[in-house]
Formats: sequence, C-alpha cells, structure tokens
Amino acid sequence: MTLVDHAGTAAAIELDNRYAAHNYSPLPVVAAAAEGAWITDIEGRRYLDCLAAYSAVNFGHRHPLITAAAHAQLDTVTLVSRAFHSDRLGPFCAALARLCGKDMVLPMNSGAEAVESAIKVARKWGTDVKGVPVDTANIVVAQNNFHGRTTTIISFSDDPVARGGFGPFTPGFRAVPFGDADALAAAIDEHTVAVLLEPIQGEAGIIVPPDDFLPRVRRLCTDNDVLMIVDEIQSGLARTGRTFACEHWGVVPDMYLLGKALGGGVVPLSAVVADRHILGVLHPGEHGSTFGGNPLAAAVGTTVVSILQTGEYQDRATELGAHLHAGLAGMAGVTAVRGKGLWAGVDIDPGLGTGKQISLRLAERGVLVKDTHGQTLRFAPPLVITAAEIDWAMDRFAAALASTS
Ligand SMILES: *Cc1c(COP(=O)(O)O)cnc(C)c1O
Repeated sequence: MTLVDHAGTAAAIELDNRYAAHNYSPLPVVAAAAEGAWITDIEGRRYLDCLAAYSAVNFGHRHPLITAAAHAQLDTVTLVSRAFHSDRLGPFCAALARLCGKDMVLPMNSGAEAVESAIKVARKWGTDVKGVPVDTANIVVAQNNFHGRTTTIISFSDDPVARGGFGPFTPGFRAVPFGDADALAAAIDEHTVAVLLEPIQGEAGIIVPPDDFLPRVRRLCTDNDVLMIVDEIQSGLARTGRTFACEHWGVVPDMYLLGKALGGGVVPLSAVVADRHILGVLHPGEHGSTFGGNPLAAAVGTTVVSILQTGEYQDRATELGAHLHAGLAGMAGVTAVRGKGLWAGVDIDPGLGTGKQISLRLAERGVLVKDTHGQTLRFAPPLVITAAEIDWAMDRFAAALASTS
C-alpha cells in the first residue's frame, strides 16, 4: 500500500491539485502538525524531516523560544508599516547588524526580495559612490546559481525550466563558472558594481567551491572596488556549522543576504546587511516593503539572533554533520557526497532509480528529503535532530536504495 492509498491523503492532494497552482511537484505527504525534527501527516503517520523547509526550519519546527516570542507579539502589535516606527524594529536591526559585524539592516520578507534589494543597492552604490555611468552597471554571478524566482533573478539563471517562456529578461549580469576565480577576474571591468554568489551552491546540489575561491573573490572585489555580495539565505544561520558559510574560508563579504531560517520557521523574514557607506545609498522612497521589518517578524528575528548567539546550533551542525557525512560515506548506491555541516548533497547511482523515486521510497519509510537535478538528494534536517535519529534515517536510506519499490 502506498501513501496515497489512504482516503484522507488522496482527498487532500486532490483538493491541492484542483485549486493550488501546479508550480511544485510535492511528494504525496500531507503535513498536519510538526514538532522539532518530526512532521505528522493527516493520517497520524510520523516522518523525520530531513529537508527543514530548505533551511527555513533550522532550529526545528515550533522552537519553544521562537513560538513564545511570536505568541507574545501577536497579543501586542503585529503590523504598522514603515510609515511609523515600531519598538521592535530597532532592537532587531541592531541585533542582526551586530551578529553580522555590519552597521545596518534592510529588512524584507522573502529571500528573493533580499536578492532584488541587494541588486538595487549595488546599482545605486555604483552610480552614486563608484561613479559608474547611469544604466551601465554589471553584476558578476555564478553559473548554476539559485537566488530566487523573480523576473530579474531568473534573468541571470541558466536553468531552462526557471527561464523558459518568462522573458524578456533584465540585462546587466555576467555569469562565470562557480569556483573559477580566473574567469571571475576576467569578467570584472570598470562597470562592475558587484559579485553575487552563494558561498556553497544549494539548489545546484550542495556544491562546495575550491578552498582558494572565496578568498580570491574577496581580494578581487577589494582590488577592483566591487561589492562582494554573498547569498547566505540557505547556507547561513548555523546550517554549515558556522553562523555564515563564508566563515569556513575566513571571508567577510560587503553584503550578507539572509532569509529562510531568519524567520524561525514562523514568518517570512529576509534581510540585506551591510555597512553604512553601502546601505546608506538608499533614501526615503527609493525602496520599500509594506511588511518588511513588521513587529511580528522583528520579534521572531530578534529571538533567532539570540539563539544564534549561543553557538549551540552551530556546534550541533558541526558535530551532527560529521555524523551524517560519516553515515553517507561509503553507502552502497551513493556515488558522491558533498557539503558542510548538517547539509549534504548525495548523488545516487542512476541504476537504482531517480532522485524523485528514491525520495518517494524514503517517504514511505518515514524520512522526508527532496531531490534536485535528477540524481541528487539533499539531506538538511533541522539542527535539533539527534545522532540516533540520523542513524535511523541512514538505515531507512540504505533500505530505500536497496529496494525497488
Ligand atoms: C531559497 C533561496 C532564495 C530565495 O528565497 P525565497 O524566500 O524562496 O524567495 C534565494 N537564494 C538562495 C540561496 C536560496 O536558497
């Protein structure tokens, strides 16, 4: 019996399919509740969540400190817009700026909005500060990037599915192979205002660059008066064992882009974080968001920053990540494992099935993961997972690889 042979599950999926746009292809699991690293479906079956909403649930489902902050704020004030000050915005921005070692925060909602905002800030900085002639700026990006789904962002994607039929596209971007600092150096000219990169490429399959790459990008940006923007929306906030993945290489960018886990798994909350000489190029009316930095999101975000300040989750990601990677290494049917911390991209022998087929077999065995690019599975459980739960997931994974259904 498969998951969808249950009447409640089948009916819920049928309703979704009828009324929700088909821009995703979800596994046939209908979540109804969740706590920590576990999701319960509408039939009461439990699954170990090894995706964590693409890192948005780094601290586990319904972390008690985060839900307490949200509940308290729901009973106080939730939204006033930036037309007025709120008593939550300043403390949030101050705490996040301090966490990043920067001066200022531009709060937004989705990750894609943070990326869009950074592009605008970089272009404005290029015009106002660097002196690049109006409308001639370029930004260097990496091939196989994933930065979101808006029209401008897909303009510098090379994924044909993300782009197909959605043009015309926004000009002003140049893509070079990820990890190739020589190609990146060659792409920079006097009109370049920024380099925009994921420090570890997430959707591309958890691709870790060569060790000299990010330090060389840092030097190139400094030498050429170009802003180094790192998209830490998925890699940041403890996932890799550091607050920011860039720390693995001792690199400090000019601009951090944060999202996903910043909202504590409760609200959409993203941010651009940079020094005053960069974010200060924005003046009233030049950029905005009705919901950006609202009191509810700010209260949640402040709590997330305080959780990160303990270092507990960074340490868990390091230790449990080593455990996860040890479990995956040498597993029959796995052809490659990449990643850092509690984040692993796992390539599957095509003879055993597609990534989607294996993730379905895993769901039937109580473990939720997501495939990417055909033969790759991504393991990114909430950082509250235990070593014993990782062992259990690895047993299930081995069984799913060994099975034909
Ligand atoms: C998820 C993601 C985004 C987009 O975030 P949304 O909240 O889905 O808009 C951008 N960059 C990276 C690296 C991501 O993983």
